Amino acid sequence: MSNNIRLRFAPSPTGPLHIGGLRTALYNYLITRKLGGKFILRIEDTDLNRLDEKAIKHIEDSLNWCGIIPDESPKSPGKFGPYFQSKRKDLYKKYIEKLIKNGSAYYAFDKKDELSELRKKNEKEGKTFIYNWLNRDKLKNSLSLNHDESKNLIHKDEYVIRFKTYDPLKDNDEYYIEDIIRGEVKINLKNLDDKIIYKSDGMPTYHLANIVDDHLMKITHVVRGEEWLPSLALHFKIYEAFGWEKPFFAHLPLILKPSGQGKLSKRDGQKFGIPVYPIEWNDSKEKIKYLGFKEMGFEPEAILNFICMIGWNPGDEKEVFSLKELETIFSLDKINKSGAKFDFEKAKWFNHEHVKKISDESTLKFMNENIDKNFLKIVSKKSKSKKLIELIKERVTFKKELIKEARNILDPNHRDLDQNFIKKKWNEKIYNSIIEIIKLIKNSKNISIKEIKKSYLDILNKNEIKVGDGMQSLRLCLIKNPTGPDIFEIIEILGLKESINRIHKNLIDIND
Ligand code: GLU
Repeated sequence: MSNNIRLRFAPSPTGPLHIGGLRTALYNYLITRKLGGKFILRIEDTDLNRLDEKAIKHIEDSLNWCGIIPDESPKSPGKFGPYFQSKRKDLYKKYIEKLIKNGSAYYAFDKKDELSELRKKNEKEGKTFIYNWLNRDKLKNSLSLNHDESKNLIHKDEYVIRFKTYDPLKDNDEYYIEDIIRGEVKINLKNLDDKIIYKSDGMPTYHLANIVDDHLMKITHVVRGEEWLPSLALHFKIYEAFGWEKPFFAHLPLILKPSGQGKLSKRDGQKFGIPVYPIEWNDSKEKIKYLGFKEMGFEPEAILNFICMIGWNPGDEKEVFSLKELETIFSLDKINKSGAKFDFEKAKWFNHEHVKKISDESTLKFMNENIDKNFLKIVSKKSKSKKLIELIKERVTFKKELIKEARNILDPNHRDLDQNFIKKKWNEKIYNSIIEIIKLIKNSKNISIKEIKKSYLDILNKNEIKVGDGMQSLRLCLIKNPTGPDIFEIIEILGLKESINRIHKNLIDIND
């Protein structure tokens, strides 16, 4: 049975893939990995006026970067294609004819300006104009006009096709829809409008195309954004009009602005200088380059982990998961009903955690590729390079920062002494204490790092120097800056000889 499970991600390529869309794709993907089904990418490009070819590439590249690889897609089609709705035009024609024939849909000839007049008129009277069961027989459509008049207008290609959402002769006005996340919801069909589902240019609208495709592609679960919940009753009715079995539906809560008020938008990204797209987006119309998580240096798995936890949790305290782990633990029943805030600091925290999880081998390979070989000579011993990696991994948010952190320790020439610190804190007592510890190291055979630490603390105590000041000063002499990783770990990595040489040289420079 598990092999019949099929879920799809069905973006409309009118703009780049937003982080909310990526989360929808991720949840769909995770369910299929867990249950053993197929994950499908279908491009819903029926709205040709708003189509942006670059958006299709952005969607595909983003999924690719994150490692959410569809089993069926435009690039790797299965037997349910085509996977672009624009290439399925003929199919929809056949199905719209079915709905016309069985009386579930009708031709409507009202001109746009006629309808907007009606809207305005209603507004003036404090009412909202809805094209539906109450007024459809008074408007210009194939239900109100006679056969010949209708035929004539259809020939002129001046029509749209509307779905008869509520028929007082057939339907009960109380209608129940079912959503996995929200349970059963009661709807009054009398309040719904007769949505346009097909246009005279031969293109279906989203509502028809989406349902026909989900049916033909044998989709078992529709997992999509909350914004589609108001359309669910209409979708149920269309399934019923065709006499088709409905898939299960789950509508995901919104990703909210950092303030928690309203949906996260691309404008928020700009306002707060944070990315809302997996990869950057060059908006040629607006002439704005929107930030991407990728270009900022985020690990794809960290982003997936981060967005997965916005709106879902495994039910315990654990938060850091690889994609493989998420594939085994994800479940629809733990998705929250209400929206959750987008917290960029949390995204950085996830990245830090994921950088820590990168294997030593691959971190070392990355460092080797990015740091001059001379630096690495110092840590040529495997145990030392491992230590170095552990030490600096703790200090970074992004992998690329490892390079700078490593240089800070390994390359004595890459920065200048922190003169500010020297001005504020340096004094003779500190100088003497450091000279004292160097002498002690030089004169003791096989002194351990632990012993060095203890002796230095004793010296500071004896000379009445605050531990913080003493430690920062020693660090300054080792790596030219008072802040950084644990000094004694640095000494261990550099070795006693190199450490003493550096301290000597820096002491001379400080005193100059
Ligand atoms: N094309 C729709 C969108 O981009 C898909 C909604 C759905 O998944 O049914 O939001």
